[in-house]
Amino acid sequence: MYPGRFEYQAPTTLEEALATLDRYGDEGKVLAGGQSLLPLMKLRFASPRALVDINRVAGLDRLAEEDGELRIGALVRHRDCERSELLGGRWGVLADAAPQISDPIVRNLGTVAGSLAHADPQGDWGSALLAADARVVAASAGGRREIPLDELLLGPFTTALEPNEIITEVRVPDPGARAAGTYLKLERRVGDFATVAVAVHVSFADGTVSRAGIALTAVGPRNLRATDAEAALAGAPLDDEAIREAARLAAGAAEPRDDVRGSADYKRNVVRVFVERGLRMAARPEERGDVPRAAAAPPGRPEPSEEFAGEETAEDVMKEIREKEDQ
Ligand SMILES: Cc1cc2nc3c(=O)[nH]c(=O)nc-3n(C[C@H](O)[C@H](O)[C@H](O)COP(=O)(O)OP(=O)(O)OC[C@H]3O[C@@H](n4cnc5c(N)ncnc54)[C@H](O)[C@@H]3O)c2cc1C
Repeated sequence: MYPGRFEYQAPTTLEEALATLDRYGDEGKVLAGGQSLLPLMKLRFASPRALVDINRVAGLDRLAEEDGELRIGALVRHRDCERSELLGGRWGVLADAAPQISDPIVRNLGTVAGSLAHADPQGDWGSALLAADARVVAASAGGRREIPLDELLLGPFTTALEPNEIITEVRVPDPGARAAGTYLKLERRVGDFATVAVAVHVSFADGTVSRAGIALTAVGPRNLRATDAEAALAGAPLDDEAIREAARLAAGAAEPRDDVRGSADYKRNVVRVFVERGLRMAARPEERGDVPRAAAAPPGRPEPSEEFAGEETAEDVMKEIREKEDQ
């Protein structure tokens, strides 16, 4: 199907883009990678009067570390994150999420900021960035404000953005000198949206957890934070008992539904297993080995039938990770 008629605007400065968007009010839509908006328009689920294409606006494609923070501009594509040496290590949760988003075609065009603005509960960046405690900078003709992700993502395809606002940047705070994390995704086939995914990001100080971020994908009306699990981990060593308890609490925070991808019980169990696995990886990131970014295989995707039959030990998990990395 073809989209309805629309006016097309392609400003070259941010000021022009904001003024144009302001003029159209709620009849205008920002166009970034087009990977979510254009399919919606073709299906006539969205029929904006105007598209404000920001792809020619200079300066929005910056991916950089500044004052310890990671800054992700509005035109930074999934692919840029997948290839960047900046991600990984302390921001392992982001590095592991990037290559698991769809396929190379979508990753070449789709943007991180666009994913957040689209607010799909099955979107991967929402959880990875929630776990990393990110916020967005939203600009309008009237000024700028920062919105923590917790407050940005309100519900399915619903955000706190005003129609005349553009996310100009995503900011991820400095996680400290010792931090680790991962993104584990279960999908029906490579490139699919998540059946369930889990983002884990842990900062350490003096041998204990100084901050834990755990967020869940595709098991609720939006990307969910497992706040009880996060609170239980803070201030304590990341030992086996703490990991098991956090995984139990995170599974309790999930709000899954039965659907063609699996039963609610099954998905809740995947959350528990993935949180446990993610926290064990965060506790011993050195055991993941020094895998070059481009060659690193996404760490998720177990076979459900064997994977979720019983309790996993730390040894089981690390053995499987090492085997995957050796392949
Ligand atoms: C086949 C397919 C498979 C996919 N699989 C996955 C997947 O596995 N995981 C996943 O997370 N995503 C997946 N996606 C979605 C993909 O990641 C999109 O790139 C992303 O959701 C939207 O980014 P975009 O830049 O393409 O945004 P667009 O499509 O251009 O815009 C999406 C929405 O965000 C708004 N918007 C965009 N940028 C801004 C901004 N800077 N400020 C304010 N509003 C803005 C637009 O107005 C629109 O409402 C898939 C998409 C496709 C087509």
